[in-house]
Amino acid sequence: MAALGWPELRAAVADCTACRLCEGRRQTVFGIGHEHAHWMVVGEAPGEQEDLKGEPFVGKSGQLLDNMLRAIALTRAPGPPQQQVFIANAIKCRPPGNRNPQPDELAQCEAFLIRQVQLVQPRIILAMGRFAVHSLLRSTEPIGRLRGRVHHYQGVPLIVTYHPAYLLRNPEDKARAWDDLCLAVETVQATALR
Ligand code: SF4
Repeated sequence: MAALGWPELRAAVADCTACRLCEGRRQTVFGIGHEHAHWMVVGEAPGEQEDLKGEPFVGKSGQLLDNMLRAIALTRAPGPPQQQVFIANAIKCRPPGNRNPQPDELAQCEAFLIRQVQLVQPRIILAMGRFAVHSLLRSTEPIGRLRGRVHHYQGVPLIVTYHPAYLLRNPEDKARAWDDLCLAVETVQATALR
């Protein structure tokens, strides 16, 4: 895995049958964005629309993510690496019926995410949602206890925040998500000054 470039990694994900999630997928959802983005967004697992489109964070939660990114001058549209993010999920195939990903599925798929982080070499990772955070940080603590401080994944600063789908159901937590984005911006700026 450590020797794979982007084309080989894309092919390895597309052909993967390492866990049971390969059985129900329409297609794998590799991730999109600038291959050397300064910001990497990591979500949980593809839902129905992502499985159809082959792209992470589509539909209403994708629109909210785009708005959140726009608020801090970022985008998923083509642009320079300091503006265009790279977006991936911790799991590349849709769990049937949008059930929660299982620990063994997250563990099986993680090598792809690790290689994506190695190739992108982001300056910050925004981990969105319980399963992304649990997978990346090996923690089962609630998001509320993990957010508000800087963690690290593969040596990259990581900020924990709520998944946009959660924020659509719980708009009262949008102010906390904004605080998380501000912490991420501060962390990137502090890293750049070093
Ligand atoms: Fe492979 Fe990940 Fe899909 Fe499982 S979820 S089949 S490990 S790509």
